[in-house]
Amino acid sequence: MPTLGGLYTFTISMIEILSILAFVGTVIFLARRNLLKLPRFHKAEMGGWPTLDANLILLGELSLIFFIFCMNGADEVLYNNGWAHAHGVHEGEVGSYGFAISQYVGPLLFGWLANFESFGEWLLVLIERFGWWGHILTVLAFLAYLPFSKHLHILLAFPNTYFAPLKSRGEMENMPAVMDEVKMMMGLTEMSNEAPPEDELPEFGAKDVFGLSWKNILDAYTCTECGRCTSVCPANETGKKLSPRKIMMDIRDRAEEVGNNIDSGEYHQHNYDDGKSLFDYISKEEIHACTTCNACVEACPVLISPLEPILKLRRYEILTESAGPSDWVPMFTSMENGGSPWTVMDARDKWATDALENDK
Ligand code: SF4
Ligand code: SF4
Repeated sequence: MPTLGGLYTFTISMIEILSILAFVGTVIFLARRNLLKLPRFHKAEMGGWPTLDANLILLGELSLIFFIFCMNGADEVLYNNGWAHAHGVHEGEVGSYGFAISQYVGPLLFGWLANFESFGEWLLVLIERFGWWGHILTVLAFLAYLPFSKHLHILLAFPNTYFAPLKSRGEMENMPAVMDEVKMMMGLTEMSNEAPPEDELPEFGAKDVFGLSWKNILDAYTCTECGRCTSVCPANETGKKLSPRKIMMDIRDRAEEVGNNIDSGEYHQHNYDDGKSLFDYISKEEIHACTTCNACVEACPVLISPLEPILKLRRYEILTESAGPSDWVPMFTSMENGGSPWTVMDARDKWATDALENDK
């Protein structure tokens, strides 16, 4: 490429070096998944399509690298032998492109073809064209495949991390209606004797994807299914059914189902009701198992919060449906009556004021 000169050689050399590093990385990733069988890649939710999807992507990456070296390697041998099919090279001109890897790998893989005068040149041109078309078609196929794959995260990871909340991870979102109620109980605001009209009763938490925020849905589509969250989740580690990765995968699956139904014209998003909800994907046993420890949020490489939708589902079950595990009821009663989860009716800070009194 005479117009670009050294810049072209430098750019292609960088691509070749990155390709070799990508090759090493991809082989390691395939081995971790399929030979070493890392536990986080083999949890229940990873059966079937998620594992196939991950392997297809890794094999696609290996093909891209293979095609690059077919193209550049064959081109290099053509140039070495003065065959005019090499790009930007005239008949009889002999030399080397000087690309960082293919100047060595090309002759190693395809140099022997130069011994066959009758078909060597023809075959090298065929390999070079095969590499060029193979590479460009794999890139195009990859782009078309992205929206159907968890690999969509290579695009969504950027906006998702940009919009990640900057507040402290332990800080929960307040529910204004509940906060007002608590303030009234504590005498911080005026008591209201007016009951809200029946049809204006507030709904707490989320029952379906409509109750989640756009960020929760973006989180679900950004999930790389790496399983780091699940591998640090104390509930999962102690054999409970909860897997934060599955929560994100379920939200994405349900969002897909709802989106497809709306696109089909069968349902309208303003009064959507297909008789199903997120609870058809995520069991109550799963959401009850969460300890709200935030370990999953801490571990996520793309700043997803699996805890937020778990809390919203739990709030819906407990506050809107007035349901929940019966052994949690004494805790709720204590909270309501004594302001603490234990059945201690004294003011929670009484021990401190007593201690201060005794010190005097
Ligand atoms: S917050 Fe819940 S889901 Fe996340 S790691 Fe802790 S227990 Fe698991
Ligand atoms: S750590 Fe984040 S990206 Fe990985 S599976 Fe969990 S939620 Fe998805």
